[in-house]
Amino acid sequence: MTPARFAHAAIPSEAEAFRAEVRRFLAAEIENIPVLARADSWMGYDAAFSRKLGEAGLIGITMPQCYGGRAAGAFARYVVSEELLAAGAPVSAHWIADRQSAPLLLHYGTETQRERYIPAISRGEAYFCIGMSEPNSGSDLASIGTRAVRSGDGWVLNGRKIWTTNAHRSHYMIALVRTEGREDDRHGGMSQFIIDLHAPGVTVRPIRDLTGHEHFNEVFFDDVALDADALVGVEGKGWSQVMAELAFERSGPERFLSSHVLLATLIDAVGKQPDALQSFQIGRLVAKLHGLRAMSLAVTAELDAGGDPAWAASCVKDIGNGLEQELPEIAQLIAPDEPRIGPGSDQAQVLAYLTQIAPSFSLRGGTREILRGILARGLGLR
Ligand SMILES: Cc1cc2nc3c(=O)[nH]c(=O)nc-3n(C[C@H](O)[C@H](O)[C@H](O)COP(=O)(O)OP(=O)(O)OC[C@H]3O[C@@H](n4cnc5c(N)ncnc54)[C@H](O)[C@@H]3O)c2cc1C
Repeated sequence: MTPARFAHAAIPSEAEAFRAEVRRFLAAEIENIPVLARADSWMGYDAAFSRKLGEAGLIGITMPQCYGGRAAGAFARYVVSEELLAAGAPVSAHWIADRQSAPLLLHYGTETQRERYIPAISRGEAYFCIGMSEPNSGSDLASIGTRAVRSGDGWVLNGRKIWTTNAHRSHYMIALVRTEGREDDRHGGMSQFIIDLHAPGVTVRPIRDLTGHEHFNEVFFDDVALDADALVGVEGKGWSQVMAELAFERSGPERFLSSHVLLATLIDAVGKQPDALQSFQIGRLVAKLHGLRAMSLAVTAELDAGGDPAWAASCVKDIGNGLEQELPEIAQLIAPDEPRIGPGSDQAQVLAYLTQIAPSFSLRGGTREILRGILARGLGLR
């Protein structure tokens, strides 16, 4: 894993062409969504919206046409994601399936799996969640204990996952579980499985967060029968498959645009005659955003060229999460209205909501300390 140079990468014109298409789609949809709901950013769930986006051909765009995609490159997906996030579109239903389940299945899946799942993902009809974390196994993912044991042609699964975003409204989980394992090989003996979340033996229990919303869950597996075709990729190679997924999970614009709707409401609320402090702070935020966008595009170029941008993706996520968390703090200093839960201006409500959820930005998808450990290792510092 080598540090990237973050070479300047321009968006190719064929990818840029997607921007007008997404804006046309959003023009008809976004007005009906209240600003506070848009502040949910990529956690905003709306299955009807996802299906319409799928009908418009804007999900699974990097997938081959035979699986319902448009065979577009990573830059085209970047453009589509950026437009949806900047508008605060409710993309959560299909987000994980589009971002990482479909590419994972395209790369490692069997033909049966590809035909079964990818077209449904591209239509915005099949939703996936990620089953990695377990109680006492978050950062130390290699210590997971959920286990699948061979039974006939298939497997029997027992164990428990936690913090699983959208498990309560997804159709499938792709889980990392233990299929064998030796004390001296912590990364060996793990495999990935597709689990039907409505199968007998699966119990999903939502966890309520600080804002009163239910985004993530505990998921229990009690003697869940998995058929042979539930295995994704190679038995025992789950760890390396998951590591390959992380570049998709950590590099995209969602790692610095989660608070973007707040920036927009803040600029509107400050108006056209900002004072010196307001101009300075908003200018600083926008300059950082510009730099992060350039870094994220450099990672996109590496993804497009088939490289391994895992180190650079960790860098974008760490710095991006910093910006997302700084935004509500700065808004509290310079915004005309105090944060307010309940009735109030758009800016006051969005600020209150973002202030409550921002601490989670540097936990989900890998914590700040873990990312900085990866960065230090890449720089040869540990
Ligand atoms: C909003 C949200 C959504 C999530 N969605 C999902 C999901 O869909 N699927 C999923 O599998 N997981 C999900 N997670 C879980 C997330 O990946 C874990 O919370 C994260 O990996 C940290 O694990 P943990 O909570 O067990 O904390 P721990 O690993 O116990 O860490 C606690 C603290 O100790 C620090 N720490 C731990 N180890 C080290 C170390 N070696 N060096 C220095 N510091 C260390 C951490 O940085 C952290 O600050 C989600 C989490 C959140 C907050």
